[in-house]
Amino acid sequence: MKEALSVLCLALLVSVSEAAVTKPGIGEFLGCLRSWPSPESPITDDIFTADNTTTFLSFYLAYTKNTRFASPNYQTLMAIVTAKNLSHIQATVVCAKSNGVQIRIRSGGHDYEGLSYISSVPFVILDLFNLRSITVDVPSKQAWVQAGATLGELYTKISEAGETVNKTLEQGGIDVLYKWQLVSSKLPESLYVKAMSQVANGTRSGERTIAVLFYAQFLGGADELVSIMNQSLPELGLKSQDCLEMSWLNSTLFWEDLPVGTPASILLDRPSKPEKFFKSKSDYVKKPIPKEGIEKLWNGMLKINNNTVYMHWNPYGGVMDTIPATATPFPHREGNLFKIQYYTAWFDANATKGSLDMMKELYEVAEPYVSSNPREAFLNYRDIDIGSNPSGETTVDEAEIYGSKYFVGNLKRLMEVKAKYDPENFFKNEQSIPPARVKQ
Ligand SMILES: Cc1cc2nc3c(=O)[nH]c(=O)nc-3n(C[C@H](O)[C@H](O)[C@H](O)COP(=O)(O)OP(=O)(O)OC[C@H]3O[C@@H](n4cnc5c(N)ncnc54)[C@H](O)[C@@H]3O)c2cc1C
Repeated sequence: MKEALSVLCLALLVSVSEAAVTKPGIGEFLGCLRSWPSPESPITDDIFTADNTTTFLSFYLAYTKNTRFASPNYQTLMAIVTAKNLSHIQATVVCAKSNGVQIRIRSGGHDYEGLSYISSVPFVILDLFNLRSITVDVPSKQAWVQAGATLGELYTKISEAGETVNKTLEQGGIDVLYKWQLVSSKLPESLYVKAMSQVANGTRSGERTIAVLFYAQFLGGADELVSIMNQSLPELGLKSQDCLEMSWLNSTLFWEDLPVGTPASILLDRPSKPEKFFKSKSDYVKKPIPKEGIEKLWNGMLKINNNTVYMHWNPYGGVMDTIPATATPFPHREGNLFKIQYYTAWFDANATKGSLDMMKELYEVAEPYVSSNPREAFLNYRDIDIGSNPSGETTVDEAEIYGSKYFVGNLKRLMEVKAKYDPENFFKNEQSIPPARVKQ
């Protein structure tokens, strides 16, 4: 009898733990959605569940940018709602909340860690790609952009409203890179010069080395640019032949590495599936990195075998110095020379763990040379390694770790705003801002 009882207990335990991963209230949630009045267009046409695997998967993948997250978690992903109007959004929020379903909102799906479309608790993706209207009002210098619009669509609309000029250049060298740190944040506001160290093939077969490229965008004439650069960074030896003149719209194609002459209509293309696995990390630099530090960073990059590896240095200064750190949630303003993005990409799933580990090592190498207490990070280059909560719960202690890196002194005010508008912390992810008074 005792034996039979313990088997029964075990069976009960198993069924309880299975219930924890079973999607809660999926029927109720879908029923709620389907019965929601949507006079403009029926929401039923825009609900996709795993029953129809091919369509579901193609919707999942269409705005998944990182192959690391290309396999949906069928255990937790209940549905994708491709909202076409505001009532679809209201329905999804209300039905998810009333049925204990988490929501992940996806606009363009560029989140580096996939937080807009993955979760380890039952959830629905509210996909906004259909909501993509753009209105540009030149006299008031304002634009209204719906969340699902792509940057290419926005650039196209803006260019229809006005024209500008762009120049570019390309060169290399550690001395120039060191000097770049001293001048890049002090150049005129019309000039942006970015430095990119990347792993490249050396002259001998199989040898790998670091190449440094400098890319600039200048709003003005080529002669003026050459004159400014030859005063500020003569080590680069810029000549007007290094410059390309093009419309501002075409400069956006240049930044995307598309060959000169690519038609701008390519900006209106929409994606269909992710192309590669990638991982990024970020840092802010307030004092120039000594030459030996640059060499250590380069050696760290060279250890990341077989992958595409680069380190972008984006200059700050200019208008960034004139906006108070407390004016908007984005706090990284005066005092920053530049921001680093470390990036690696690969195509073989077996390389994922090694690539992620090597990026952590590179990040450690950089530590002595970058901001500290907190070690600041750029939210757009989301990095789950700098602190995270589990999908379904948010603790303030953990949020203060990643939140202070992304938002520095603005975190406290953001938590107060969150407490005002979402006191129950319904909208959450692994790196979200918790309401100020919730302390679990
Ligand atoms: C290939 C690539 C290139 C990039 N280049 C740059 C670059 O040059 N400069 C730069 O700064 N960044 C860059 N990024 C990063 C990108 O800007 C950020 O990831 C940004 O958050 C992407 O917005 P999204 O709407 O596409 O992302 P999503 O993944 O859709 O959303 C990002 C986050 O915002 C939330 N969210 C989305 N929509 C809403 C909404 N309507 N309401 C509330 N929350 C919402 C999501 O849930 C998620 O947490 C790049 C990313 C990729 C993949």
